[in-house]
Amino acid sequence: MIPRARPNYGFKDLLKAAPKSRDPGPASAEVAERLRDILGLPYVLLTPSGRGALYILLKATPGAEVLIPSYTCSAVAEAALLAGKQPIFAEHGSLSYNQSVDDLAPHLQDGRTYIATHQYGFGAPIEAMTDACRSAGVTVYEDIAAAFGTRVNGRLAGTFGAACFGSFDTTKLVNAPLKGGFLATADPDLFRRAQNVAQGELRTMSVMRKMALIGAAFVLVGLRNPLLYKAFHTLNFAWRGRATAESGELRTTPSQVYLDRFADWQAQVVLPQLDGFEDTIRRRRANYQLLRSRLQHLRKVALPPEDAGSEWVPIRFPVLCYDEKMNYYERGVGKGMDFGFSFTKIAAPTAHVSAHAIAAGVLNLPFDAALTPMEIETMINVLTELEAA
Ligand SMILES: *Cc1c(COP(=O)(O)O)cnc(C)c1O
Repeated sequence: MIPRARPNYGFKDLLKAAPKSRDPGPASAEVAERLRDILGLPYVLLTPSGRGALYILLKATPGAEVLIPSYTCSAVAEAALLAGKQPIFAEHGSLSYNQSVDDLAPHLQDGRTYIATHQYGFGAPIEAMTDACRSAGVTVYEDIAAAFGTRVNGRLAGTFGAACFGSFDTTKLVNAPLKGGFLATADPDLFRRAQNVAQGELRTMSVMRKMALIGAAFVLVGLRNPLLYKAFHTLNFAWRGRATAESGELRTTPSQVYLDRFADWQAQVVLPQLDGFEDTIRRRRANYQLLRSRLQHLRKVALPPEDAGSEWVPIRFPVLCYDEKMNYYERGVGKGMDFGFSFTKIAAPTAHVSAHAIAAGVLNLPFDAALTPMEIETMINVLTELEAA
């Protein structure tokens, strides 16, 4: 079975990382340096996760209200709540993964912070967004958890707002076991405040935690094997009567993925991926365009948007399945192709019908950096077969 996601590291990377420290060290210093280079932003802080980076950023931010896209990862609202902020959800005007400036207009009030999101790596209309926010006195933080490397009109996502945050989750471009992330800014005062929050709250992960994470990472690498993956899928999903581990529930206290400092051993796993960064980006962009062009005939699902400027770095290939999503999913699984479900559970009020329609319809095709031409052919065949019946 073609897995829904595979990590971008292997056994060798894990063996090399295992002896490294649970504290920051030379590898984490180098990852931070490389991120400063890539983003062209002078201040970078490595964090336990994307949500952990947002939590720190918001704790370092004045103002009580945070404006959040209604269709996004539920961890965004969770991080805002944990940071003591009130989330305000901005509904989408259409079934589009990214928001438009018009979606923000009713909510632009002085002192708020807007989390501008480049969903799944698709460039948002960020220039218009930052203009509208600036004139209203709204601070913009860019969520590039899924859009590291994406450009908008030639300029890198993450460099438009007052700060940005990214993620090294297993479903993103760059993967650390089992999460990681960063915040980045050009604002020295904001950075100092963020560093103070991090210093006060973050702690070194326990030995047990490190062993558990390395163990889980070994399992993830093992699951790159299609037969093992099939067995895992049966045990973890089919037999347990579920299709996703995602619950959508918001935590009320910060967990380890907020508080365990990003370790040198995790950075060691990230480093080789930054060497292969440009290559991975090219492959993902080409695969995205190939799938889009070969799947134009599909009628049961709607394809994701076109990357007209060839400047996005998609980390997902979401389709909207309008009718009987679970049945579609199960028939796909029966034909040897798994799907992901992010984001099926969202935190927005149910009255936000567009956001909930996207969440209800979304399915992710397998779309990781390891995808082979043969797997792509298989996927195209399976999806074409699913059109019948
Ligand atoms: C993945 C993701 C996050 C959260 O990142 P974690 O590292 O899992 O905390 C936040 N926002 C978006 C848009 C994401 O895709």
